Amino acid sequence: MTADETLMEFSQRIARLPRYPVAGGYALPDDVAMLASNETPFGPVPQALEAVQRATMTAHRYPDPSNARLRAALSDRTGVPSSRIAIGNGSCDVLLAAGEALLEPGAELVHAWPSFSVYPHLAAASGATAITVPLDAEHGHDLDAMAGEVTVATRLVIVCNPNNPTSTALPAAQVAAFVADLPRHVVVILDEAYCEFNVLDDPDTTIDLLDNHPNLVLLRTFSKVYGLAGLRVGYGLCGSEGMVQALDQVRQPFFCNVAAQAAAAEALRHQDTVAQRVERTVMARVEVEEGLRALGLDPARSQANFAWFDVDRDPERAAQLEPEVVVGLRDRGVLVRAGTALGRDGALRVTYGTEAENTRFLDALRAVL
Ligand SMILES: *Cc1c(COP(=O)(O)O)cnc(C)c1O
Repeated sequence: MTADETLMEFSQRIARLPRYPVAGGYALPDDVAMLASNETPFGPVPQALEAVQRATMTAHRYPDPSNARLRAALSDRTGVPSSRIAIGNGSCDVLLAAGEALLEPGAELVHAWPSFSVYPHLAAASGATAITVPLDAEHGHDLDAMAGEVTVATRLVIVCNPNNPTSTALPAAQVAAFVADLPRHVVVILDEAYCEFNVLDDPDTTIDLLDNHPNLVLLRTFSKVYGLAGLRVGYGLCGSEGMVQALDQVRQPFFCNVAAQAAAAEALRHQDTVAQRVERTVMARVEVEEGLRALGLDPARSQANFAWFDVDRDPERAAQLEPEVVVGLRDRGVLVRAGTALGRDGALRVTYGTEAENTRFLDALRAVL
């Protein structure tokens, strides 16, 4: 920093705001297994790419700020009326907008930890107080403990199901009971970025809860199973129209670009591809979990497209080993996420890749350990 630079005065929230832990690897050669960001290894469906090409012919015009076609397509698929669907520039956009719409100094937000690395931003950006509730011994949400933290000041509770970074999922019936028992003034965001990969329940069972719970938002994304992470589009299925209006009020009008809107609407039409990807993910899950167990490790019970495990059964040794393991894997062309950056020293989060990438990861891990 130059002397002149240090004279700039940023707002207090800049000092509070955490910086997103960047995965790295974007400047590495092509022959790298990118297993750090929970993307799908399969590309967008070709029809979505064609839709992008058609949409960009009108790139001199602003996109439809009401996202009407995409909301209609989502409404058709989910049965939720368009007026209760919020679109976002990725689902993180909807999440951060919810923070702005609901939180302020004096308000409280309850979420589990370790959980999604973006949640701490909501309290930091708004000046609200974050109450973080530790996961249970099986790396899952402790819903009773979370309910116990709710007060008159609570505005928002976030439940990540399946949970990132720990991969575990709660049965839908437990989530339903939790939502039903909360006071009605508390908004619940159920972050379902990985719901398609969860085989405990039909991914769409939670949609029925919206009819009885105006305070509920189901947060979903095109970044994971649909393979559109680079285009940035996600959505919230909401229990009330008022929530959609508030989410739109706090954002700029054109938050979702023409290419993203068109690709997402098209991708929804290919549920057969979604089903195939889920099947391949479940096969990868079995292969990776078996491989980790064969190395003497104890992965969490994943219902997502990634694994979470300590690099040693002894927590202290795991914490010591973790940095070396991450570097050792990187030297072998395998990029993963270090648990330290995600709330648990000694753990790794590893996205399932193609069959070849999964084998490469397991071979590399064996060599490093
Ligand atoms: C990946 C992910 C998202 C999706 O983020 P986008 O902004 O839609 O790309 C949301 N929540 C969790 C928990 C995630 O892991």
